[in-house]
Amino acid sequence: MVSQDKCPECGSRYIGEGVLSGYADLTVKGKFFSSSKVLAKVCSNCGLILELRVADPEKFVPNE
Ligand SMILES: [Zn+2]
Repeated sequence: MVSQDKCPECGSRYIGEGVLSGYADLTVKGKFFSSSKVLAKVCSNCGLILELRVADPEKFVPNE
C-alpha cells in the first residue's frame, strides 16, 4: 500500500505512524476507566505531527 501522505511543512513523503500509549491514552471525560490509544502520523524528516486520531472513537460518543 502506497501512502499518499505528504508533509505540508517540508514536502517529505516519509510519514511514519506512532502510538501514544500508557499515560498518554486519551481518557473519555467523566469516565476515568474508559480511554483510547492515540494514533499519530509523524513526518520522519521534520517531526511535524500531521494527524492525531484515537484508536477507538466509539468510546467518545457523548451521552445525551
Ligand atoms: Zn516534514
